[in-house]
Amino acid sequence: MMKLKQLHLDLSQRLEELSEDVSTSRFLECLQDWLRQELGKFSSETVQRYQLAELATIEFERYPLQRSSMNPTEEVRRLIAVSPSSMETLAMFLRDVLRAGITVSSGVWCPNCDSAELVTNFDEISQKIVYACDRCIWAQTPEGSPLGADCHLVPATKIVLEQFGAVAPKN
Ligand SMILES: [Zn+2]
Repeated sequence: MMKLKQLHLDLSQRLEELSEDVSTSRFLECLQDWLRQELGKFSSETVQRYQLAELATIEFERYPLQRSSMNPTEEVRRLIAVSPSSMETLAMFLRDVLRAGITVSSGVWCPNCDSAELVTNFDEISQKIVYACDRCIWAQTPEGSPLGADCHLVPATKIVLEQFGAVAPKN
């Protein structure tokens, strides 16, 4: 428990150093730097479950950050205000924020859990764009056909979004 409190305190201090109008990329980089430094404090199960190692090394310039609907100032406030109850919860917070920052909303509401918009991912197995829910296990094609378990979803990069005609950001 001490370790968790200390980690959250460290993270909060790091985030407090960011300016009020911090950009999404600056915010994500700050979070990622911290995660990279503290990765060893998480159990290997947690690192694996929340893909922390991948998130700690992801190259943000490959992703459409400015199309994400994230409000970095709000995220900073929330991360500081909400004390995680366990290392797992902290890992989940980090995963959710980092993923939200690099992914693009599809504009399609999840037909399964009805609590979130589907996010644009790329399936490495079928090599196609897939809309998936971050709240439940739902995944579908952009046309709406449900997908089975036989897929490996990763956040769609700018290049992938361009290739598949999902409008890419200008930068
Ligand atoms: Zn869902």
